[in-house]
Amino acid sequence: MTVPALTAETRWRCTLCGNLTRFDVTRTARVTEFLHFDLAGESEVEETEVLSETIESVRCRWCNAVDQVELVARPGAEGAETPAEQG
Ligand SMILES: [Zn+2]
Repeated sequence: MTVPALTAETRWRCTLCGNLTRFDVTRTARVTEFLHFDLAGESEVEETEVLSETIESVRCRWCNAVDQVELVARPGAEGAETPAEQG
């Protein structure tokens, strides 16, 4: 089972227990980081550019179900920013 991709209007919901807020997400990401070194040689990431990202699995923190998430609308997503077919 694949994990549905999140959008600006949706969030995950565990289909088994209804959890909306806590998930362990395993993902593979390819990123370019801007490392800024100080004079002592310590580095800090100041910018991160995500080139590609794949979510491999999502585990519910409440019931430990793996990849048992569905997309549901975020609160207030309906009607907000939805272009009405009028005018
Ligand atoms: Zn759950």
